[in-house]
Amino acid sequence: MPQYDGIIIGGGPNGLTLACYLAKAGLKVIILEKRYEMGGGLCSEMITIPGFIHNTHAIYHPMVDYAPVFPDLELDKSYDLKYIHPELVMAMPFQDGRSLCIYSDVEKTCASFAQFSKKDADAYRETYERFKRYTDAFLAPATYVMAKPAFEQVVKLQSSPLGQEISALSEKKPIDIIHGIFENNQVRTFMLYVTCLWGLDYDLEGLGYLVPLMINRASNYRLCVGGSHHMANLMSKFLYRHGGMILGSQIIKRIIVENGVAKGVELDDGTVYEATKFVASSIDHHQTFLKYIGEKNLPKDLVTRTNDWKWEKSSLFDVHLALFNAPQFTAASKNPDLAKAFIYVLGFETEENLIEHFKALKSGELKGSGLNCSFPTLFDPSAAPPGRHVGLLSEHAPYRLKEGGPERWYKIRHEHARQNIETLRKYAPNMTDDNILWTYIASPLDIENKFSDMVEGSIKQGGYFPLQMGFLRPNELCSQYATPIKNLYLCGACCFPGGLVTYGPGYNAANRIAEDLGAKKWWKEPEIVTKAKANGLL
Ligand SMILES: Cc1cc2nc3c(=O)[nH]c(=O)nc-3n(C[C@H](O)[C@H](O)[C@H](O)COP(=O)(O)OP(=O)(O)OC[C@H]3O[C@@H](n4cnc5c(N)ncnc54)[C@H](O)[C@@H]3O)c2cc1C
Repeated sequence: MPQYDGIIIGGGPNGLTLACYLAKAGLKVIILEKRYEMGGGLCSEMITIPGFIHNTHAIYHPMVDYAPVFPDLELDKSYDLKYIHPELVMAMPFQDGRSLCIYSDVEKTCASFAQFSKKDADAYRETYERFKRYTDAFLAPATYVMAKPAFEQVVKLQSSPLGQEISALSEKKPIDIIHGIFENNQVRTFMLYVTCLWGLDYDLEGLGYLVPLMINRASNYRLCVGGSHHMANLMSKFLYRHGGMILGSQIIKRIIVENGVAKGVELDDGTVYEATKFVASSIDHHQTFLKYIGEKNLPKDLVTRTNDWKWEKSSLFDVHLALFNAPQFTAASKNPDLAKAFIYVLGFETEENLIEHFKALKSGELKGSGLNCSFPTLFDPSAAPPGRHVGLLSEHAPYRLKEGGPERWYKIRHEHARQNIETLRKYAPNMTDDNILWTYIASPLDIENKFSDMVEGSIKQGGYFPLQMGFLRPNELCSQYATPIKNLYLCGACCFPGGLVTYGPGYNAANRIAEDLGAKKWWKEPEIVTKAKANGLL
């Protein structure tokens, strides 16, 4: 029987992170991945035409400047990992030819905003600096430590003026925070979209502390050269070099639990992998517990809390394009920088359009055709044959359609994709049928069918609601990555700090497991964390 110190279920960014840290700490670990290849959301595929490489999941990398995996694994120095930080990170062109731009340079952003409102340009400068302070001092470091119980964290925040400011924001709705800062309708539209890009509800109280992080990240998204999968490939390389192992096409039947202790994993074909020290699951806790262990083997309160879990209210509808020529945006005639933005936000001419779209999502309807899009070959030509381009149109969309439920996506996918291409054409008229060589469509239902941990198209393994965040993610019984089952850990996006390719859940779980096993930590606490602790914020 194959025997390992630790078995990790799922080879996405978090499973890989956990495996890399623990393998270098001397543990014999294996990742069991359900799909044919590892990487999870770090996925690049030739899904249109051979030679056209599309990032079919994570494309906008939000924490490259903070995540400890980058300095710790030295993927840039020893493994040739490169990220591009585009000068123009996000742009919102309007039909009248004007545009709003968020640059990596704050003054250039202010100049762009000033064309709409001088007051909002000044407000952006002040907000940018303030939110950067919040991010450096607390929000980024808090991503790479274990969550504290809410009361304990609030007391810590209350001990300093900066912490008090962050606390004060928390109870506010994103829309109220944006309205409190900006006055112009178009600027508000852009900043609200930026804030809610990852599924934060514009109208929800209790998670306002995420607004500064989202606005700060808007000028910091990076593109992985060679495709997002390159990151996963290099992490795998690191893992192999340190004695770890990954196996694809592993269909798990059950997690073996004996006398309340996780002992290993059994596959559908009867193969048993024994874990002498731990089993860690990077898939959602719902399936980990209820499908792979079973209600009768679990404490009652854990079953209740797990059944309370809410998936995300909205998912994504993506259209990938293989293109003959790059898009030419009409707005580039007024601002030539528009020829080369990393993320374009299209189709929301007013805040009312955007709110209508967000409201419709909650009731399973599709209203308007606003979306974000990106053309990575503008920055990384290696993603397509010479002179050709790839593109992505990404729209927030409900999994369960009000009429027809999720299955209706099979019927409307082509028509809906066509509408989204029409939206692109309104802003970039050269995106004609002649120019589009091939399309590939991924609906919310397809996301679930591809990644079984993204239940109901949940790109973060579960929604962002106050009772599913911080110490309560995924619940108070598992919030420190250990679970009520001895030697069973969680390490995926259902855990604190949540979804996206932050590598936070995997990193924090590595710390927890290393501490529990007495393994020697070869990595140092990130400086930002040490500083935040010294300042009493963590
Ligand atoms: C369309 C789309 C676009 C996205 N865009 C971005 C973006 O631009 N930026 C960003 O930061 N984030 C983005 N995300 C979100 C991001 O991809 C996820 O939040 C992130 O990948 C979560 O990482 P994870 O390791 O926790 O889980 P995953 O990446 O989901 O990895 C889990 C792995 O477990 C495997 N698995 C599932 N069930 C089993 C099982 N039973 N047995 C074994 N293995 C199993 C899966 O196949 C998968 O490989 C996007 C997601 C989607 C769907």
